[in-house]
Amino acid sequence: MHTPDGFTPLHAMPATLGTSTLAFAYRDGKILVAGALNEAPSIPTLHMFSLAAAPGSAHFLGTLAGTACVAVNLADDFQEPTGMCFTGLRALFLTLPEPLLALAGRAYQIVEWDRTHRFCGRCGTPTRDKAGERAKECPACGQTAYPRVSPAMMVLVTRGRELLLARANRFPTAMYSALAGFVEPGETIEDCIRREVREEVGVEVNAITYFASQSWAFPHSLMIAYTAEYVSGELAPDGTEIADVHWFPLDALPQLPSPVSIARHLIEATVARLRNGR
Ligand SMILES: [Zn+2]
Repeated sequence: MHTPDGFTPLHAMPATLGTSTLAFAYRDGKILVAGALNEAPSIPTLHMFSLAAAPGSAHFLGTLAGTACVAVNLADDFQEPTGMCFTGLRALFLTLPEPLLALAGRAYQIVEWDRTHRFCGRCGTPTRDKAGERAKECPACGQTAYPRVSPAMMVLVTRGRELLLARANRFPTAMYSALAGFVEPGETIEDCIRREVREEVGVEVNAITYFASQSWAFPHSLMIAYTAEYVSGELAPDGTEIADVHWFPLDALPQLPSPVSIARHLIEATVARLRNGR
């Protein structure tokens, strides 16, 4: 997910919102959509969905081709209006247009931040939205909390014309993918790549090269993808996070991640590059 073309990010809520305003409204992690899930669900507009009747809090996201967009944190007891339903964001990957999916992911992260920062983490006082920026402040001690973004790295290690792909214990299927892990305090991304590859599969790498990044709303990651080249070591999966790991030749790749994932793009671009002899 990334910032859609034609989207202008803003945070100050306008004095009035038009009825065409798109409402990315969540209740307990699920988004409210209009229409049937098995047809073409859409994001409700304020015309269809009364913000005033929906207790909770709203944050202005910005405008998409001139249309205002708001993120709404609905109260837990909010009942879906007739003709609408709640669904997980992942269920919309193949049905919602990509710009709306990206904004739904953005809204999800803001709503999650909103509902997990209602009280000051330092002194426990209820927080309030801060004027002028996307932040919550404590009226008692002044502590400020911003939406959290957690950097994570993904790395596809190559050895000649082979790819290092692993099956993580958390994967539900026989899928194999590039290695990934969260950056720890004090690390550069390159430090993180070397540590994770060493810890998870026991090999050393170099030639760490940036590929692309992707916002990932589950729950608030910025996934930064790289390639790297094998230097030394024998493959030794750690047995906890990694169930199985192999060097795969280009013409015998295992089951790969979904085509919408950055992992799949990273793998396919690397396969194409190696096939071209680069
Ligand atoms: Zn405080």
